[in-house]
Parts: sequence; C-alpha cells; structure tokens
Amino acid sequence: MTTPASSKLVLLGPPGAGKGTQAELLSARLGTPHISTGDMLRSEISQGTALGVRAKGFMDKGELVPDDLMLGIVRQRLARMDCNEGFVLDGFPRSVPQAVSLDDICGGASPGKLRALSLDVPTDELVRRLTERRTCRKCGAMYHLTFEPPKRPGICDKCGGDLYQRDDDREEIIAARLEVYRKETAPLLTFYRERSALVEVQGTGATEQVFRRVVASLGVPA
Ligand code: AMP
Repeated sequence: MTTPASSKLVLLGPPGAGKGTQAELLSARLGTPHISTGDMLRSEISQGTALGVRAKGFMDKGELVPDDLMLGIVRQRLARMDCNEGFVLDGFPRSVPQAVSLDDICGGASPGKLRALSLDVPTDELVRRLTERRTCRKCGAMYHLTFEPPKRPGICDKCGGDLYQRDDDREEIIAARLEVYRKETAPLLTFYRERSALVEVQGTGATEQVFRRVVASLGVPA
C-alpha cells in the first residue's frame, strides 16, 4: 500500500485522552508503525538499561524525561526502514522544543508534511479513566475496570499476561502529569495550529465512535 506523505502523524492530548488506543487503530489502518515513547521507556525500565534507570525517576514523579535522553531514542527509532512511509507517534513531542527537534529529525518543517491530531477530553473524565486503567505487563494492552474490564480479573484477554496499575496512574501522580501537560504540552496545539497542521477531535465516547471521528477528520480512506 502506498501511504500519502501526510501519514506522518503525531497524537496530542492529555494523559488518558486515548492516544495509545487511537494510535494503535490508526497504525493498523494506515500500515505505518505505532511508536509510543512511553512504551519505549517502560521497555528500557523492564530491561534494566542505564536509560531506563534514569528515566524511571522522572516517570514515577509524573515529570518529563529530559530531552537528552528522549531525542536519541526517537531519532534512532524514526531512522528505521519501517518509518519510510510514515508513522503514528504517540507521546512525542511533548513540548515545543521537542516539536522543533522532530522537524529537524524529519528533515525540516515543511507545512503539510507532518500532521498533529489532538484528542480533547474533559479533566474529570481523564482522572476517571486513568485511576481505573489497568495495563498488561506483557503486551501493553489497556483495560478500564468499569467500562472495559478484562474477562478474567487481573489477566489480559489478548495474551494472558498480568494486568497492573502503572505507578504513574495513581491519583497523586495523575495530578502532576496533568499539570505538566498544561504547562509543557498544551502549547503544541498553537504550534501546529499556526502551521495549519492541527486536526482537533473530541475524544469522549466509545473507542469505535472516537475512531470514526478520527478517520473522518484526517480524511483516511475507510
Ligand atoms: P505515556 O505512556 O505517554 O503516558 O508516558 C509515560 C511517561 O513517560 C510520561 O509521564 C513521561 O515521564 C515519560 N515520557 C513519555 N514520552 C515522553 C517525552 N516525549 N518526553 C519526555 N518524557 C516522556
């Protein structure tokens, strides 16, 4: 399948907006890789790498991992062959300096090359989603204890792995993450809007309903 040049997508939105879920669906639809910087960091942590050890301290507090650690792993990942036709980036960029670096990694900021999709969800809904979120330790699949529970408590439907609550999905850390989003990441909406590269979608409702809005707004063929 030939994907259009605009299949370089970045997903924006506060924690709990559904970026991971929509990125996964978009990646399957477009045939481009889903790249989650949060998943990459969690994998470094579980492998006990030096980067993982440094990143964990920031992640556990809900803070951003410094750019000197982030830029290297993102640059390396985007240089891989499977990104030639595009990608769905989830969790990067998270600040204006990271967006400027992403332009540089992608070979310059020509408008229309890269598009940003923003998922909008009210704060009380985000907190509800995050506190009841459970994640599979093995495959990263996500569940919600009330709205999308696993068939067997504590066990992933997809791979049988253990479900756990991410350390940073505890209520006190969620508040810090939302504040970091407001200060560092929300200015990206203006950054991409000013270059006519922003697509805004309401992120409330069922997963499939949000996905229909997403593909319609991006003009992705059904
Ligand atoms: P996520 O899985 O996207 O919610 O990310 C979990 C945590 O990983 C964040 O709260 C940050 O501590 C860290 N992280 C992920 N992506 C980035 C990034 N682009 N820049 C800095 N820190 C990041």
